[in-house]
Amino acid sequence: MFDYLIVGAGFAGSVLAERLANGSNKRVLICDKRPHIGGNAYDHYNDDGILVHKYGPHIFHTNSREVFEYLSRFTEWRSYQHRVLAHVDGQHVPIPINLDTINQLYGLNLTAFEVEEFFKKVAEPCEKIRTSEDVVVSTVGRELYEKFFRNYTRKQWGLDPSELDASVTSRVPTRTNRDDRYFTDTYQAMPLHGYTRMFERLLDSPNIKIMLNCDYREIERDIQFREMIYTGPVDAYFDYRYGKLPYRSLEFKHETHSTAQFQSAPVVNYPNEQAYTRVTEFKYLTGQEHNKTSIVYEYPQAEGDPYYPIPRPENADLYTKYKALADTQTGVHFVGRLATYKYYNMDQIVAQALTVYGKIVGMKRKEAAKTIVAKTETKISVPAYQIPKPNGNGNGKSLPTLS
Ligand code: FAD
Ligand code: UDP
Repeated sequence: MFDYLIVGAGFAGSVLAERLANGSNKRVLICDKRPHIGGNAYDHYNDDGILVHKYGPHIFHTNSREVFEYLSRFTEWRSYQHRVLAHVDGQHVPIPINLDTINQLYGLNLTAFEVEEFFKKVAEPCEKIRTSEDVVVSTVGRELYEKFFRNYTRKQWGLDPSELDASVTSRVPTRTNRDDRYFTDTYQAMPLHGYTRMFERLLDSPNIKIMLNCDYREIERDIQFREMIYTGPVDAYFDYRYGKLPYRSLEFKHETHSTAQFQSAPVVNYPNEQAYTRVTEFKYLTGQEHNKTSIVYEYPQAEGDPYYPIPRPENADLYTKYKALADTQTGVHFVGRLATYKYYNMDQIVAQALTVYGKIVGMKRKEAAKTIVAKTETKISVPAYQIPKPNGNGNGKSLPTLS
C-alpha cells in the first residue's frame, strides 16, 4: 500500500516525492511514461560523451533563496550567467535589446541617456497593455518589434503576438545599459553534475519507488494508494471532457560537430529567416571541455509532446473549467506546468510543489521545505557556488561599464 501515487517525475513530481518521503515518512510510488526521470529538465551524456539537454536548454535562475537552498541539498552548482545573441539583419546582436544592440544594428554610438531618448521617440504609446504586441511596440517601437519579436513569436506559438497575453514577451526586458545577461535573478547557476544527477538525489529514499515507461493509467487500478499527485496535462486527466487545452510543442534536432566551438554564444535566436527559433550549444551551459561540441535546434510544432501552455484569454477560460473540475477531485493534487496550465520556469514549479506540500502537511512553505523525519539530507561537502554580491555577475567579474 502506497500513501501517494505521483504521476510524472519532473520537478513537480520529484520535489513532492522527496518532501513526502523524507519530510513526512510517506511511502511513495512515482511513475513516468518516459524512460527517464527529470521531466523536461532531463540531461544525459550523448554518444560522444557530451552532456546535453534532451528537451532543449534549461538554465536555472531564481530570486527565491528558499528554492535555491532547497535544491542545494541535492546538487552543487556551477555559477553561470546566460547570454543570447539574435541573428537580425545579417548581424549577431545582444538580446534582450540593450544599448549595444541599437548601436550595432544602426551603426550608432549612442550613450545610455541617448538610447533612452531613442526608445522614447520610436515607442508607440498604448493606453492599456494587453497583448504581447503591446508590450514591445510600446517600449521599442514597431521596427524593432518586427525585427526581433513578431516573426519569432509567430513561429514559436503559431499565433501573432497580438493574440497572446502580455506576459509572454514581457519575459524579455529592454535595457538602456550594456548588461547583456538574459536573466538578472540573484541566483543563476547550473547543477554541477547535471539535472539528472540532481533528480537521482531527490528521489534517493527507501520510501520512494520509481516506475519508468509507465503511464499511470496502466497501473492505477492494480496498485493501492491513498492519494495522487498528478503532474501531466490537466485536460488528459479528464479525457478532454471540455475539449483539448492547447499546448505548443517542439521538435528538437540534436547534432554533434567535430569542432571545439560551433557558435559565438550559448544560444543564438533566429527570429526571421529560419524555420527554427534558436540554436543552443551545450558546452557553454555545462562548462564541459571536449574537442567536439553538441548543439540543438528547436522547431516549433502544433502537434507532439505538450511543452508550453499557451497564454491567451480563451485558453485561460477553458483552463478555468478544468480547474473547477480538478477542485472537485478529492485525494488528487494537480501540480506543475501541465497540470496547472502555467507558463512557469523550473524555480516556480519547485516553489509551487513546496507550497502544495506545505498545504498537505499544514505548514508554511518555508518550514515545509526543511522538515526531515525519514532520512538525513544528501551531504554535499563544498558548495561550488558563491552567492553573488549585489550588482556582480556571479562570475567574479564585474559587468561591462555602463556609459
Ligand atoms: P514536466 O517536466 O513536463 O514533467 C511532467 C512529467 O509527467 C513528464 O516527464 C511526463 O512524461 C509525465 N507524464 C505526463 N503524463 C503522464 C502519464 N499519463 N503517466 C505518467 N507520466 C506522465 N525553465 C527554466 O527555469 N529555465 C529554462 O531555461 C527553461 N527552458 C525550457 C526550455 C524548453 C524547451 C521547455 C519546454 C521548458 C523550459 N523550461 C525552463 C521550463 C521547465 O521545463 C519547466 O518549468 C519544468 O520542467 C516543469 O516541470 P513539471 O514537473 O511541471 O513538468
Ligand atoms: N521572444 C521573441 N524573440 C526573441 C526572444 C523571445 O519574440 O528573440 C518572445 C517569444 O514570444 C518567446 C517569448 O518572447 O516565446 C519568451 O522568450 P523566452 O526566451 O523566455 O522563451 P522560452 O525560453 O520560455 O522558450
